[in-house]
Amino acid sequence: MQPVYAHDLVKRSEISRVLVIAAHPDDIDFGAASTIAALTASGVEVTYCLVTSGDAGGFELDHSPEAMIARREQEQRDAAKVVGVHDVRYLKHLDGYVEPNHALVSELVALMRQVQPDIVISQHPQRNWDRLQASHPDHIAVGEATVRAVYPAVENPFAYPDLGHLPAFRIGQLWMMGAPADLVNLCVDITDYVDMKLEALHQHNSQHPDPAAMDARVRSALESNHPDAGRAAEVFHVAAINDETTFAGF
Ligand SMILES: [Zn+2]
Repeated sequence: MQPVYAHDLVKRSEISRVLVIAAHPDDIDFGAASTIAALTASGVEVTYCLVTSGDAGGFELDHSPEAMIARREQEQRDAAKVVGVHDVRYLKHLDGYVEPNHALVSELVALMRQVQPDIVISQHPQRNWDRLQASHPDHIAVGEATVRAVYPAVENPFAYPDLGHLPAFRIGQLWMMGAPADLVNLCVDITDYVDMKLEALHQHNSQHPDPAAMDARVRSALESNHPDAGRAAEVFHVAAINDETTFAGF
């Protein structure tokens, strides 16, 4: 697959707003931080939505859930800042208990109608058997809830009558992180943004007992996503929902 540059996608498809939805603090940074950095560098406004605050993560057992929530929310805000994102929302669902039910779908619909993104980036609703760690049950649940919100609920004015005050809105595309390999259809060259991704990942101090080992793993994964030696890429499964323009390259 021929890699493309984020700034070319932004120009070609007139992307001005992107909403990124994930289950836990650090999911976005592992899946898409370099792409986000490239998008914000091209003038795109990006909002993050974390469905949980990651209260079941980390390695230190001597903390209260409240302390862990406050710490991880701050870590995610700091990581977002590294890649040019200043709007980070938390839905405060319980880590490990996320379900793709109507309560969550309607919260996501409300957020999409408020933010009005051209593109939604989220997690993949299908289990990746080659890399089960990418398919935490919360990730699959968030992916499924996001797909249900993106179509048809967000664009149907009769869906969720409680949200009637927020006008129905059409999303252009859904980009899914952590996709099974055979579904990947977008490869973004992020060679210039690898260091920024690592810096963002380092903000999640509570999660990484060995940052040097993580850096090596992340670099090699990004390099293996790119067909050319010495280059790096992040990959997505893109579903077109209402895009008038066509992205070249995939
Ligand atoms: Zn996660």
